[in-house]
Amino acid sequence: MTSITEPVAIPVITVDGPGGVGKGTVARWISKRLMFNRLDSGALYRLAAIAALDRGIGPDAADRIAALCHGLSINFGEDADGHERITLDSIDVTQRLRLEATGEVASHLSVWPAVRNALLQRQRNFRQRPGLVADGRDMGTVVFTDARLKLFLDADVRARALRRQRQLSESGIAARIDDLCVQIAARDARDRNRIVAPLRAANDAITIDTSNLSVAEVEERVETLLAVHGFT
Ligand code: C5P
Repeated sequence: MTSITEPVAIPVITVDGPGGVGKGTVARWISKRLMFNRLDSGALYRLAAIAALDRGIGPDAADRIAALCHGLSINFGEDADGHERITLDSIDVTQRLRLEATGEVASHLSVWPAVRNALLQRQRNFRQRPGLVADGRDMGTVVFTDARLKLFLDADVRARALRRQRQLSESGIAARIDDLCVQIAARDARDRNRIVAPLRAANDAITIDTSNLSVAEVEERVETLLAVHGFT
């Protein structure tokens, strides 16, 4: 009898949810825990925003931005202290990437199907052995629909604004809570109501509300889920 061995798919864990919910922290933790590669898909949209801004292209010029996305030379790396360092066409844009203004433009240009399609294959290329943790808005619903574990993190707007404020202040950027709440609510509305790949939990995703959980408590829950899904 001939035995046919099916190629084993490279495992993917998706972490979706709105901005400031702690996706990046959880995804980074999982990638260290399992030694998996990591895709920060929001960073790709932010890089597209920086590239467009630098060329004076407005966020509604979908076809021009899509063309730009195909040619972007991007590198995700770390400095000697383990801090992320992201370059765009060999220029370090790590700080600029995290500015609210960059996120705003990213949120605008990400509504266009042409832009999303231009970034789709680039995102799927991150699926390398031994596995991938991908965080964003549509990782479980569009980009990696066959992911073995799909997480959806949620939290109320104020909790997320407080976290965003802390994150920003660590990068030396000051921001007011009330302003952040307004920005976050507006960005949520745009991400949830867009026609293509709106922010929502995949049907087979496990939702964790992180509003009242510490990072350690979220990690504890994820650790259990990793075990249940055969990752550890
Ligand atoms: O997560 P982050 O704040 O870095 O994402 C910036 C913007 O990029 C989001 O507001 C969202 O509009 C867009 N985005 C997206 N799909 C993803 C990741 C981010 O549309 N998978």
